[in-house]
Amino acid sequence: MLIGSYSPSLVVISLCVAMLASYTALDLVGRIATARGRAVYLWMAGGSLSMGIGIWSMHFIGMLAFSLPIPLGYDLTLTGLSLLIAVLSSGFALWLVSQPRLPLMQLAFGALIMGSGIATMHYTGMAAMRMSPGIQYDTVLFIDSLVIAIGASAAALYIAFRLRNAIPHVLLARSVASVVMGIAIVGMHYTGMAAAMFPEGSVCGASGLNGKGLDYMVLITSLSVLGITLLTSVLDARMEARTADLANSLRLANRELTQLALHDNLTGLPNRVLLADRIAQAMQMVDENGGCFALMFIDLDGFKPVNDAFGHHMGDELLRAVALRLRGNLQGQDTLARIGGDEFVLLVALREPNDAPTVAARQVALISQVFDVGEQSLQISASIGIAMYPGNGADQHALLMNADAAMYHAKSAGKNGYSFFDGSMNTNARKQLQLLQDLRLAVERKEFRLFYQPKFDAATGQPVGAEALVRWEHPEQGLLAPDSFIGLAEKTGLIISIGEWVLDEACRQMRQWVLEGYGHWRIAVNLSALQFCHLGLVDSVAAALSRHQLAANNLTLEITESTAMNDADASMSVLRQLSDMGVDLSIDDFGTGYSSLMYLKRLPANELKIDRGFVRDLEQDSDDAAIVSAIVALGQALGLRIVAEGVETDNQQNFLTRLGCDALQGYHLGHPLPAEHFMADIHAAEAHQRVAQA
Ligand code: C2E
Ligand code: CA
Ligand code: CA
Repeated sequence: MLIGSYSPSLVVISLCVAMLASYTALDLVGRIATARGRAVYLWMAGGSLSMGIGIWSMHFIGMLAFSLPIPLGYDLTLTGLSLLIAVLSSGFALWLVSQPRLPLMQLAFGALIMGSGIATMHYTGMAAMRMSPGIQYDTVLFIDSLVIAIGASAAALYIAFRLRNAIPHVLLARSVASVVMGIAIVGMHYTGMAAAMFPEGSVCGASGLNGKGLDYMVLITSLSVLGITLLTSVLDARMEARTADLANSLRLANRELTQLALHDNLTGLPNRVLLADRIAQAMQMVDENGGCFALMFIDLDGFKPVNDAFGHHMGDELLRAVALRLRGNLQGQDTLARIGGDEFVLLVALREPNDAPTVAARQVALISQVFDVGEQSLQISASIGIAMYPGNGADQHALLMNADAAMYHAKSAGKNGYSFFDGSMNTNARKQLQLLQDLRLAVERKEFRLFYQPKFDAATGQPVGAEALVRWEHPEQGLLAPDSFIGLAEKTGLIISIGEWVLDEACRQMRQWVLEGYGHWRIAVNLSALQFCHLGLVDSVAAALSRHQLAANNLTLEITESTAMNDADASMSVLRQLSDMGVDLSIDDFGTGYSSLMYLKRLPANELKIDRGFVRDLEQDSDDAAIVSAIVALGQALGLRIVAEGVETDNQQNFLTRLGCDALQGYHLGHPLPAEHFMADIHAAEAHQRVAQA
């Protein structure tokens, strides 16, 4: 037998190449695991090429390290074939470990194929020497080399599979694993070499690949391929990480945008858009699985005065507090949305329709408890309208409209409560629309009338004037009270022209009374907030007075407390101009608007009108009695006249007189009446008095 020898330096180099190839392979497996789409195939193709070249060059350098006392060469075709086998086995291995799962059977089968692949590569490479006579193999060592090839493949596949996803210390783990794999591959190679026996007198029949420098060429080529692959992989991983970062921040930004688009940014509650979506889902759910849900339209009562008196900031805080309280009381699947200023909608899934009143009553009770906002304790209430599904509307729009109509019903039934929708409410909405059309024509058609309600001096019982209260003589519906159209007129701006008419007519009537000998009376005219903000107010008051040759102090303008407090500085300047003109100013409905005393002191008002609500419950409610006496004391301290309205009984009259009210007004003393009837009553009272005196 010929005795072969090994070049130690090339053996070491082959070991290094084997380790580097293993490291590259492990890295690529990780790359394939995180790549998406076409990149997977690109990495797999490129990966099997470079890994195949790596393994093959380890093998080939190992061959070059071996020398016999005769010259050796390698057949080009067979060597190329061995390279192809290495690339194919590598491709198979990469594909196998990038599968989502790797059960034991699959691992064993894979190791068998890959191991045989490597062995085939090796022995094909050996055959490329074209020895004659042929190489003889030691059976035991040959089988050993096969076992090592398969065992090493199994270990490599297993390690690669486990390491493919990022784990802590992945670099270290990969390095250790590639040393193990490198040794195994080299072990197989040299075991296979050891199995080979070359009989004495063998000659190498291969030309093609031989000669000096071949080892370096193979080494440099394989190192460059592996190096480039690794570099690309590392750069790509960086890029991927950066892309992932970018995608992540995009996702975050997206989530924020969705949050903004679907939520109200004051309270963080869902907005109209999200609500629509939830209603659609709830409807679908009920259609498919039965059951029912309620849509509750919640509108706060008394929110506007808070906003007007304390400013928007406080109003916002209050809304937030309301949202927080209501939300705290929800079940997981319910939706509370804010769809407008002080309007909320609650969507509740119910086991049965009979549960709805309980839920609604709970919401009403929740809101009626005091809110501590900033330094203030605020008391408001809510009116709730309820539409049920199925039953009160076939689509979202109808459901919401009907819940809204029911809410208006709850408001007109006294607020602080709830109403279920019923069909008649829709007709109400239609009626409102008709009424609005009629109202537009009412001014031209001169359909308004003024009624006058007398005011009396509390101490002497003498009339001191009257409050002008508007009525609408509707062509079909007859005489309408202001409550049924003033709100509508304010919403549409029609109140400006109606108000001008009222002012003019009241001045005309007052002039008449002056001429009849009642020059000491005052006529009171109500102004709504919109008129008060209107630029022309001061001029039109001045014009009405001069048109009817009326002294300014024959006219009292009544503005509600919240109107006066709204935009305090602007109000102040209008009030001052009116007051400078000599017009008398009265703060109407006093006690309902959270006035600050400081502000009240600066107002150029002459009169406070205690709200009807306090007078009504005077006898039953000791709180109200306390409030009224406090208002009287306050008014006296500020030098204001105190007028009590809504006096309906003898008791109230006496009580209010005793407290020190200056003037009284109410059904007990006189109803609002047209001017002729009003004067008839006055004359009758005067006659009565003359008789009494006589
Ligand atoms: P207000 O200014 O508080 O007017 C007093 C209201 O109380 C009047 O209702 C009057 O009829 C009613 N009232 C008088 N005495 C009693 C009583 O003893 N018991 C009860 N329960 N009520 C009494 P009316 O005429 O229906 O007016 C309602 C509101 O409409 C007025 O409240 C006022 O805010 C507004 N309004 C009336 N006329 C005009 C107007 O010409 N212009 C504007 N902007 N608003 C007006
Ligand atoms: Ca009034
Ligand atoms: Ca009033």
